[in-house]
Amino acid sequence: MDTARCTEDDVRYLASHFALLPAAELERKRRALVCDSCGAEAYFRKASASGQGACFGARPHGLLCQATAIGAVKGNANPEEQDILDNPGDVIELDLCYGRAGTGTPLPWQAPVTTPGSAGRYTGLGSGAPALTRRRLTPILRNLIYSEPFRNSSQVINVPGQGIHTIRRFFVSTHQVHAGLEGWHLGYWGMIASVGVANDEGALWLNAGGYGDYSVLVSENMVSDLLRRARKQDVDALAGCHLLVLGELRRSGGGKLWVYLDDVERCAVYDD
Ligand SMILES: [Zn+2]
Repeated sequence: MDTARCTEDDVRYLASHFALLPAAELERKRRALVCDSCGAEAYFRKASASGQGACFGARPHGLLCQATAIGAVKGNANPEEQDILDNPGDVIELDLCYGRAGTGTPLPWQAPVTTPGSAGRYTGLGSGAPALTRRRLTPILRNLIYSEPFRNSSQVINVPGQGIHTIRRFFVSTHQVHAGLEGWHLGYWGMIASVGVANDEGALWLNAGGYGDYSVLVSENMVSDLLRRARKQDVDALAGCHLLVLGELRRSGGGKLWVYLDDVERCAVYDD
């Protein structure tokens, strides 16, 4: 979309004009953008080396937002995501071994059963045992973004190393992050509003929007993996992507809240 509103100065900006703001002002204001039609959290993406001009975007827009029609947003769930939504009684086991075939151990009372149309489904052998579905983080993230019932559901989830949780308690959107969660190992997710350099070695801060003082610190040896997973050429193009990170919320001396990302298997990144 060509325009977005900054909640700091309540000005409606044209993307090409926003791109010309002084660097510090731009980095601050890009964390406070909303869709001018529906008020959804929005992002600013600089012009890319491949020729795409500077633009704004938002995901998802409000149901009746006019900007949606212009932006051609993909909001439809794929079959795996729909399967999660259609089976709220299942126990979801997070599969953190993306790309590594043949790993992961079924729970003792479960046995894998392959049936057409239910790939990844595990059906309990014992009577009364809930069905277990193993799911990767990316379809979970998409459901968190697009489905409010999923975000608020009490569906049970088994997180390797962390035990049993419910969807609505385990996954915390960046707008819900607060100091009281310090020390909690949870699934933190939200839109990346801006990207900052964290140290000389190339570690990155991925900053949340809405002026929330929450960021994800990406270790330097993770950056190329993250770019590959996001299918982005340069780090600034990560602005506007959604990110889900499993980790412990930490707090710096200055009160900044952050999660450290040093394992690509514990994150998902999503862009339309
Ligand atoms: Zn909108």
